[in-house]
Formats: sequence, C-alpha cells, structure tokens
Amino acid sequence: MIQDYTLHTHTVGFDGRDSVQSMVNRARDLGFKTIGVSNHFIVNPIIKYTKMYPFSVHGGYSNIYSSSFDEALLRFVPHYHEIEMLREQNPDMKILRGMEADFFDYNGWRERFEMAINILQPDYIIGSAHFVSYNGTLLNSHDWKNADEQTQKILIQKYWENIARAAASGLFTWMAHLDLPKKVGLGVEEQWVEFEQRAIEAAAKSKIGIEINTSFYRSFCYEPYPSNRILKMAAENNVPVIISDDAHETKNIGRHFDEAGQLIRDLNLKTLTR
Ligand SMILES: [Zn+2]
Ligand SMILES: [Zn+2]
Repeated sequence: MIQDYTLHTHTVGFDGRDSVQSMVNRARDLGFKTIGVSNHFIVNPIIKYTKMYPFSVHGGYSNIYSSSFDEALLRFVPHYHEIEMLREQNPDMKILRGMEADFFDYNGWRERFEMAINILQPDYIIGSAHFVSYNGTLLNSHDWKNADEQTQKILIQKYWENIARAAASGLFTWMAHLDLPKKVGLGVEEQWVEFEQRAIEAAAKSKIGIEINTSFYRSFCYEPYPSNRILKMAAENNVPVIISDDAHETKNIGRHFDEAGQLIRDLNLKTLTR
C-alpha cells in the first residue's frame, strides 16, 4: 500500500456526512492504521456577511464558519474531546486531531490563531485558502466563476499571493489543494506558472509539504489537485507530498490513492514523513 493512512477528512457537525467513529471503522476496513480528522477552522469577522454564507446555512454546513476565535474554540474543544474518547475505544487505530485552517491576513488573525492552536494543540494543521478578500468582502471559490474576466484575473492572482504567504507563514504542516481555482475551471493557463512557482518556493523555504488531493479526479479531468506541472515543481524543489482523499463521507476514504501513488513514483516525489 502506497500510504496506509489518511489525514484529510471531515466529519458530521462540520461539513462531513459521517461520524468520526464510522470514518475510523471505514479506515480500519481498508487496512489503514492511522486516521486524522481535519475539520474546517475558518475564522473571519465578516464571514457571515459573505455571499456564500446563506448557502452554507441552507446546505446545513454553516458550522464550519466562525466569526470569532471563541466561536471556533466552542466547536473544536468538544470535538477534540470526542476524538480523545474514541482513541480509548479504538486502541488498534491511531486517531489524530488535525484541522484544515483557512489562512487570513486581517489584523490580529495570526496572533489569535496561534493562541487558539496553543489551547487546542492539534497534531497537525493543513493550510488552505477557500476565500479571496476583494472589495471589502470575501469571495469563495464558487463566486470566482461568476466574476467578469478582468476580476477573475485579479482574484486568481490574489489567491496565489495568499497561498504563498500561507506557505511562508510557518503555521502549517502542509498546504491543501494548491490549484483550487481549477475547481471552477480557472487558473489553468500557462500565465499562472510563475505564481505557482512562488508558492512552491515558499513551501520549500518553510520546509512544509503539499498534498496530492484526490477529490478532483473526475471523468472530464482525470487528475488530482495540484496539476502535474505543479507536482513537477514540487519534485524539483524537494517539497514533499502527502496523499489526501479530503473525505467528507466514509466512501471517500482512500479514493484514488493508487493513481496518486503512481504519480509519486513517476515524478519521483518525496513523501511527507510523519
Ligand atoms: Zn479544502
Ligand atoms: Zn478539506
């Protein structure tokens, strides 16, 4: 098995469909020895005024968004407590407490994020950016699709600059789904190579990894996040990779790990050691 653990997973109470225990059971059935739970840690005082927030309420997953660090802690403290209880009940499995944290650069974010991390003591932190700050609001990747072409270019550029800053911050264990704009068909042109390069160099400099996120394997575009051209840069810069299924339900666990493993061998990528 190329990787007998999964660390990028989401569970019920956040935006996942299944309980931590059922995710653990599924991982065990697949022969995994370790599972990490990495629910969203997204804190921004204006998050509930964004265009996409009502959709999250309607969809039943608004719990992933917090206006304050206190609010996020109120969710994560009992969540981590539950994971600790499950460790005792599943001694054959190593269950890790992770998080997928959105990087923001508003005044005070970093300081308070570090305080929250001090309290929670997660085993690892996945860095991500699902939003771009624009015109006094936050635009989610789904909003980028509907912007006019000129604005899209600005948004993609801001996205990559944000990713490079997040990678350089030293706060994260690895970076999630690096070329996320691809989700809505954006940022695939050659012109973005220099921005991708800067993000990879920032990851190399702070000695963190990136993930091969297998949630993007689709019939129309059979590849993970990020693209081969980014993975080649990772290989050249000695940036290690980890395979992530980004599982939001039990059936997603371990998806396309074989294909991702083949990419690791073909591109001679280093893997993130835990
Ligand atoms: Zn994500
Ligand atoms: Zn995720």
